[in-house]
Amino acid sequence: MENTQKETIRPAGKGGLSGSTIKIIAVIAMLIDHAAATVLIRYLISGIQTAQAAGTALAWEQEHTILYSAYYLMRDIGRLGFPIFCFLLAEGFQRTKNVKKYALRLGMFALISEIPFNLAICGQASNLEYQNVYFTLLLGLLALCAFVFFEKVSKEPEKDLPAPLRMAFLATGAILPVIYLPISDLLDPLAFENRVLLCTLAAGAAVTGYFFYGMRWGLRRLQTVCADMTALALCMIAAELLRTDYAGMGVLTIAVMYLGQCVEFGPKEQIFNRPLHPYTRSLLSAIPIPSAEERERKVELIRGEITSAVDLPEGCRFASRCPHASSACKEKVLLHDAGEGHQVACVLQ
Ligand code: SF4
Repeated sequence: MENTQKETIRPAGKGGLSGSTIKIIAVIAMLIDHAAATVLIRYLISGIQTAQAAGTALAWEQEHTILYSAYYLMRDIGRLGFPIFCFLLAEGFQRTKNVKKYALRLGMFALISEIPFNLAICGQASNLEYQNVYFTLLLGLLALCAFVFFEKVSKEPEKDLPAPLRMAFLATGAILPVIYLPISDLLDPLAFENRVLLCTLAAGAAVTGYFFYGMRWGLRRLQTVCADMTALALCMIAAELLRTDYAGMGVLTIAVMYLGQCVEFGPKEQIFNRPLHPYTRSLLSAIPIPSAEERERKVELIRGEITSAVDLPEGCRFASRCPHASSACKEKVLLHDAGEGHQVACVLQ
């Protein structure tokens, strides 16, 4: 598709940030984020493991409080990078003379970046649990292409969308939740709230689109908005199903702490779909899910006394409350690899 639009989304004249400055800010934000997600987190994990082995974990954590705070601050700074990338994507889309080449380059970047991304985040070359952020941006670009296409069609009556295609778009939009919910349920049973949020957003956008566009421009414009929304919803769902970076809440890894100790650590899908530590399982089972099917789900209650933080046991700190505790838990329990970037500190695994 040739993009013929001449306007740019940046106002003319002096003032504001230049494109290069914005790109530099985005690159710095991304570097800070990746340094935390790949280097600092590894240092913190290996440090706490060594300290656990030496029985000085609490002291080590207290000594490194600043580093833990720095980790979260760096990840928060990194989150600023994504809106900037989205802005640059939209601007690039406006300015490019050949959107096909633009999309092709983005696709190639996505494929080339995937192996280093997997190695840095999960320590393995191939991991279908995450795709890098270029895939998310590529899907965003496809949505923009669809918007421009429908906009163009709506302004040229002689090039109207064929009726069957129009009907197919509207039908897809209507039955999307019916198709999407069961598929995503199979892939990610605990992400129900994300799906509800997505459907609520789509419904909200439909109502807003109807009042702001449908009434103002009439039925023809409303059809365009419906087609836009269907394309956008399809791209968002593709990003969710492909598990691209930033498709969900932008969370890559989760660390579960108990009494100042990391008891489980790993990619968010691993933690939500395959929780291994009894404490993590109990936390997840307590999440309220607004679904009739889930009404029978049992909450794994945590009973027993909380271990004193000033007199920590040599072994597992969760033992006094764990229903699976045994004599083996009185020994030191270190974080160990449970596969696919997942680590857990429990003798059961
Ligand atoms: S190490 Fe033992 S006490 Fe600790 S969580 Fe695992 S089974 Fe429970």
